[in-house]
Formats: sequence, C-alpha cells, structure tokens
Amino acid sequence: MLPIIHRNIGWIEVICGSMFSGKTEELIRRTRRAIIARQKVAIFKPQIDDRFSKDHIVSHSELKIPSMMVESPRQILEMALESQVVGIDEAQFFDDSLVPICLKLANMGKRVIVAGLDMDYRGIPFEPIPQLLAVAEYITKTHAICVICGNPANFTQRKTADEERVIVGASDIYEARCRNCFEPPQETPSQNERNRKKATEEATHK
Ligand code: ZN
Repeated sequence: MLPIIHRNIGWIEVICGSMFSGKTEELIRRTRRAIIARQKVAIFKPQIDDRFSKDHIVSHSELKIPSMMVESPRQILEMALESQVVGIDEAQFFDDSLVPICLKLANMGKRVIVAGLDMDYRGIPFEPIPQLLAVAEYITKTHAICVICGNPANFTQRKTADEERVIVGASDIYEARCRNCFEPPQETPSQNERNRKKATEEATHK
C-alpha cells in the first residue's frame, strides 16, 4: 500500500470503519512497526475515552500500546514536536480543529496515522473523519462482521434508545451490522425494508 521511498516528507493515513472493525488494532500494528524501526512515535487519544486505560490505547482484542490523553488537538501539536510518527485514536471524539492540526503535522514532515469511526450510530458521517479522508494520502476502511447475518459490517448499531451522539461504550451498547441489518434509530424498518416496501408500492401502481 505505501510507496517505498518517503524521505523527509510527511503524510496522513486514515483508518476508519465501524466499531469492532479492528481500527485500533491496525493503528497499534502500524505504530509498533515504526517503534521497531526506532522511529520516534507519539500516540494520542481524547480525554473522553478511558474505557480500558488512561495511558494506553487498547483494542477490543486487548492489544495495547502506551499513549497520552489530550483534551484538544492543539495539545497534540505541542506534544508531538519531536516525533516522526504521530498516532491518533478515536479521532471522532475530537473537534474539527483536528484537521488543520493533522495537516500541520504532515507539513512538518511527520507521518500522521489517524483512526476513528466514520459514521455515528445513525449511520451519519462523523466529523472530523470525512474531512480527514478528503485530505489524507492513504485511506484504509476496516470492516467488522455483521452479528445478524455474517456479512461485512460497515455500521455501528446502538442497542439502547439513548439519543446523544457520543456515548462511550463497547459490546454492552453497540454491535456491528451490515447495510441490510442496520436499523437507524427512530425508524424501525431498515433501509432494506423501506426499499422493499417502496418497490412493492410501485409495482402495485403499475
Ligand atoms: Zn447483516
């Protein structure tokens, strides 16, 4: 995926997908290889996410790597000045200022690897990930497996009725679903069922 020669040039990599798709695992895999190559690596996560650990990022599969908690993207810029590789996990919990900060880091010659949810629990693009996708050199979309039918899952189904956009949780609150099985909140029928209904109505009118 990555070109072989990258000398004194920075870039942005985005790893995105639904929950349980292995985003953090992939971020850990990439940063760990950089550490093995003796590159200076700094990994950050937002203050909001202390589900597993305050000073590590931890995947659902319990891989982990040391990280620093920050309240704002601005702090990442200040704390990553000496680093060659900057990892950022759970990027959807940062505000839009993450985008110019990532650009700045890449322009300084750093490799910036950002992992985050690309859609919220309603299936709506989750800022600032869409903006980061637009400016990134490399994009990896990870997939989970739909718990209902076993197809590749791109959506995060919330299992509770809460309506706040951000509720930090794991398999107690969320599960991965494919397009057919995903049921957006407040709309009981899935997109698939709505399409079927529409098709049936159209066929009846003919
Ligand atoms: Zn499914």
